[in-house]
Amino acid sequence: MAEHWIDSGIIPPDDGERVIGGMIDNYAENREPRMLHPEWLQAAEEKLAALEEKTGRKPNFLIFILDDVGWGDFGCFGGGHLRGAPTPNFDRLAAEGLRLTSCYSQPSCSPSRATIMTGRLPIRHGILTPPMYGQPGGLQDEVTLPELLKQAGYATRAVGKWHCGENAESVPQNKGFDEFYGFYGVSDMYTEWRDNYFYPEIVNDPFIFQAVMKMQFNKHNILAKPGQFDVPEIEQEEIDLDTVKDLDEKWAAYSEKFIRDMADSDQPWLLYHGTRGCHFDNYPPDNFKGKSRAKYPFHDVLVEMDDIFGRLFRALEETGQLENTLILVTSDNGPEMESWPDSSYTPFRGSKGTTWEGGIRVPGIFYWKGMIEGGRVSDGLFDFSDLMPTFCAMAGVEDLPQDRYIDGVDQRGFLLASIVAEGTYWAADPAWSSNRVAVYAWLLDKFSGIRVGPYKLYSVTTEMDYRDTVNTGGFSGHTVEYTYGKLFNLFLDPKEDHSFAIRKLVTLPIMSAISAQHRKTFEKYPPRIQVKGAQSG
Ligand code: CA
Repeated sequence: MAEHWIDSGIIPPDDGERVIGGMIDNYAENREPRMLHPEWLQAAEEKLAALEEKTGRKPNFLIFILDDVGWGDFGCFGGGHLRGAPTPNFDRLAAEGLRLTSCYSQPSCSPSRATIMTGRLPIRHGILTPPMYGQPGGLQDEVTLPELLKQAGYATRAVGKWHCGENAESVPQNKGFDEFYGFYGVSDMYTEWRDNYFYPEIVNDPFIFQAVMKMQFNKHNILAKPGQFDVPEIEQEEIDLDTVKDLDEKWAAYSEKFIRDMADSDQPWLLYHGTRGCHFDNYPPDNFKGKSRAKYPFHDVLVEMDDIFGRLFRALEETGQLENTLILVTSDNGPEMESWPDSSYTPFRGSKGTTWEGGIRVPGIFYWKGMIEGGRVSDGLFDFSDLMPTFCAMAGVEDLPQDRYIDGVDQRGFLLASIVAEGTYWAADPAWSSNRVAVYAWLLDKFSGIRVGPYKLYSVTTEMDYRDTVNTGGFSGHTVEYTYGKLFNLFLDPKEDHSFAIRKLVTLPIMSAISAQHRKTFEKYPPRIQVKGAQSG
């Protein structure tokens, strides 16, 4: 790995010290350097302490993560009515919370989800592609967010889509969650080969159909507690073209009950709710079929997802838990274009499977009544890896693993401090308006690019193939390595159409210095590859 590093070819490699030495807080060898902003941190700590004083406990966390919903699908990100799928609940959350325009996932599902769980980039936790059809995951040696929060007495639940591996050591009930209700894999794995429209050659061939049925991957919606793994131990219901329609409704009911039950508990909680929607193929439940203006299955299900989130929000509101619950709504990657028109929307270049902005920039809304300023919008960089250290810091968990590199940074200051510029809804200093210095984009085991401030510099990307694919998308493209690198200014050029590296040479030493720091971390903490293949998710 790491043969494709951004040394740009134009400017010689830099060890980092010459350009950025002293500008960034290198506070621990195994931790990602950060923009400190001490005044933000102090403000955040004071807010958290005041809340704990009032409630007598640590905050709850709700992660509501959609599947394959693009940056542009919600109304508050320019979609909604434009897409024929209004999203009033997500829009309200953004209007009363913090809307992130630069929230970054990984190019596909499982790498993103494992990054949330571990605070580490895929090249460190090793899940580079989604484990499919019973493939093991890679969480067995990882320390997860729920495991850490349990040290602080949290109740933990994982609901819905997991997709970090089906081996006993990687399933949620054995990686820190007190209970799991959902499926281990990804939607299409349960339905595609049962659908006569997509797979008549399997549906109508008893031999092949039976062969798929015999394949060793779990085909069920399951309910499991820690230690339970074998089929007789776990409650389950087979997923087929009928039962798939109601999965999200069942999971919503489970999560709503959990929220209501926890209102009277002394325990703080983590609820990780991963929806089935809107991954292909979408089969809306009967009461949402045709509910969207667009009338397409993706859009009907997006309307359903918005409605489900609204139910969970109301449950928090009605039980008086909004003031003590940090909510994140996001999606795990950009649009899957190979399944068009059952797919989402991004205004950016590229799609799921790529490291272009379209593949990894996702909608991000944080909400916390009384704690996060309402109506704020920020382009501050936020990476999924930041969730683990940020939530742990809020929960008072200080002992993060020392024997491995943590890519996430503590973003408490960015999220909670009052940093809206006078008379505006945005932060005063956009280029450095979070605690994160850079976002590192990896294309499987190749370093692809880096974003710093408005700039994104690539050495390796995916080019789409237009001739030999049914629908052009990120998984059907090919990898290209640029001779001199390409540099885009994302404010001037969100679609990354105009590389102008040659006119911005002065920025390249900065970009390459930060990338050199990142590269250096792999000397002591080498990369790890657990799952790698040509997969979906
Ligand atoms: Ca996904």
